[in-house]
Amino acid sequence: MSIARVEPLTTARALRGPFDYLIPDRLPGIDIGTVLEVPFGPRRITGVVVGLAATSEVPPGKLAEPIRILGTGTTPELVDLGMWIAREYCSTPARGVGLMLPPGTGTGGQRTKARTETLSRITELGRAALEDGSRLGEKQRLALRSLLEGEMTGRELMARAAADASTLKRLESRGLIEREQIRVRRRPDSGTIGSASVSAPALTADQRAAVSRLNDAVDSGVGQEFLLAGVTGSGKTEVYLAAVEHALALGRTAIVLVPEIGLTPQAVGRFEARLGDRVAVLHSALSAGQRFDEWQRLKSGEATVCVGPRSAIFAPLMNLGLIVVDEEHDPSYKQESDPRYDARSVARRRSAQNGALLILGTATPRPETWRDFERIELPDRVDGLGMPPVEVIDMRLADPRGGPIHPSTFEALSQVRSEGGKAIVMINRRGFAPWLTCRTCGHHWGCPNCDVSLIVHRESGQLICHHCSHAEPLPRSCGECGGTTLAQSGAGTQRIERLLAEAMDPMPVFRLDADTSAGPGGHGRVLSAFDQADSAILVGTQMVAKGHDFPEVTLSVILDADATLRFPDFRAEERTFSLVTQLAGRSGRGAAGGRVIVQTLAPDAASIRAASKHDSPGFLAGELVRREELAYPPFSSLIRIVLAAEDEAALDRAAAEVATQVGEALPGEASMLGPAPMFRARNRFRRRFLIKTTAREQTVGAVHETVENMLADRVFRGIVLSIDVDPQ
Ligand code: ADP
Ligand code: ZN
Repeated sequence: MSIARVEPLTTARALRGPFDYLIPDRLPGIDIGTVLEVPFGPRRITGVVVGLAATSEVPPGKLAEPIRILGTGTTPELVDLGMWIAREYCSTPARGVGLMLPPGTGTGGQRTKARTETLSRITELGRAALEDGSRLGEKQRLALRSLLEGEMTGRELMARAAADASTLKRLESRGLIEREQIRVRRRPDSGTIGSASVSAPALTADQRAAVSRLNDAVDSGVGQEFLLAGVTGSGKTEVYLAAVEHALALGRTAIVLVPEIGLTPQAVGRFEARLGDRVAVLHSALSAGQRFDEWQRLKSGEATVCVGPRSAIFAPLMNLGLIVVDEEHDPSYKQESDPRYDARSVARRRSAQNGALLILGTATPRPETWRDFERIELPDRVDGLGMPPVEVIDMRLADPRGGPIHPSTFEALSQVRSEGGKAIVMINRRGFAPWLTCRTCGHHWGCPNCDVSLIVHRESGQLICHHCSHAEPLPRSCGECGGTTLAQSGAGTQRIERLLAEAMDPMPVFRLDADTSAGPGGHGRVLSAFDQADSAILVGTQMVAKGHDFPEVTLSVILDADATLRFPDFRAEERTFSLVTQLAGRSGRGAAGGRVIVQTLAPDAASIRAASKHDSPGFLAGELVRREELAYPPFSSLIRIVLAAEDEAALDRAAAEVATQVGEALPGEASMLGPAPMFRARNRFRRRFLIKTTAREQTVGAVHETVENMLADRVFRGIVLSIDVDPQ
């Protein structure tokens, strides 16, 4: 007999395992990763086995036994990965391992059951009965006839032959049909956009060279890592597909990560078209039932490729041969809630543990990837199409009454209209206008819960806070002075959509932002409407810059290229560079060529200059020099601690405590800045610390341990504290 070390699946930090349970003979098959219901004091709780031990270590009879095994659980490899995440990102084992479990574990939900259907099949007796004119009711005869064409589900028989359950039961009892329960897959609808081709094109010489190096690396099975640095439209996806097919041919499995939003439907469509049912998709827009089924298909080995956003890195695949991270620069690979893991780092860990090849692909690599990874380059677009020329428009020189769209931009859009082409226009803010002010008294509408402006949303007739979602009706007059002249200033996607719809009539304008793409398949709906239109404009937030491939787009416009530069963040230049370059990359992917317009108040910023020349190597070289001078990542690691509370005095006491205790615990290689005030959000005041270190593991450990020990202290009552390792 042995002992199971069980970690309770609870978010309560106080209930920290693992706790030991004796494994009884009546529960065979318990392994690391098994999910159990266990007695815990007077309660029953759900837990995961994170370790096994022999009985001789503990006197028998003193330990409780688990009550039962719940579901299929996860694998030892993934438990190990979950425990690593808990350590690496200052989380708890329950949260780390929780990422690895079948969807719905611990919720006790119905949806975590497989869906079954009953298949009916005609027997020899049944055929004979039809032929020799046995006594058969009309419905029975119809049902049997239908079944001559092959087996069918109850639902199909109902539709074809109006055969209800009792008819089928009677046929079965007479031996005229056989019935069998089968599991059915709740199939996700990938909402394929564009032409997803089933057959591979003949690869270009660059693609072939890349594939051959990558295939060798899959063969080696030692967990090599490559950056696939390919300009936008260089055919990176074909390279991934070839490498995935190679891994599958060797009997190994693969994970393909794509950014969270916008991109998924098109990418998934391409993988499904090529690889068919071997692909399982995992993403948040799936219903709980679909997610559960896809997860089980991966766990059972029925599906051997998992495509999805960051959480797909936890796919329960055995014998992993390849992990692809497409658009590796995308910030959505970082999870912004506990556990705050970075899927790119998790991918590195998983590839090393499994000897699987890791490919990070992008046109705009992060400085850390550029510096640390061996590179494979695709310097040209397929078909030898050149990169589209970029015009930078200095908005400081523009007529301030001219509005957010420059006359030259209008001109370029009109040209697209007269050519019957397509254009993409990006503005980095949703809503109609970011400020509402009273012309009479100057009153400005802010959020009652956060120190930010409320955003005018004309469509819903509301003022909305983009931080806490507070919403109030759009006022007609000022509550302070009664004035009725209210100014809506600045522009968001809704205003641009309206301006363009008026100016570019009859060309249709589609809008892609968080408001138009809410709900499952939301992005897909907007993108496929744009795809199907003959000539159209797509307006939207950053979502429009992600890797869509629409060959008819001949113009990309970015209206506020410096918006991201204004963030007080050392990644501001990197973000701006990748956003502008990626948006530029949407243009000129077809024979008609293309152009790009960048409107900006900061035409001299390094990021915007480099992006206008499609010059990633130049930008990265400069950026790495700057990072090294300032000792920013990748030349150090950052850890951010944020404290938030409604009571500002209590918050300051807690912050002082963090400053002293964490300050003392830090190793010599680390330094700490703070507490610095942050703007109030969701009714809470906030303070922030930033730790910079060159001894990452040691510092993370010290911060984690110190904070855990401090939290029990009365000073921290009512304080929300979060630790973010590698904050974005
Ligand atoms: P990237 O991901 O590098 O931006 P994609 O993989 O989306 O580029 O490829 C751009 C377009 O080129 C796609 O429509 C793709 O089907 C097509 N393509 C890729 N490789 C080839 C090739 N060897 N021959 C012809 N077309 C190709
Ligand atoms: Zn708010």
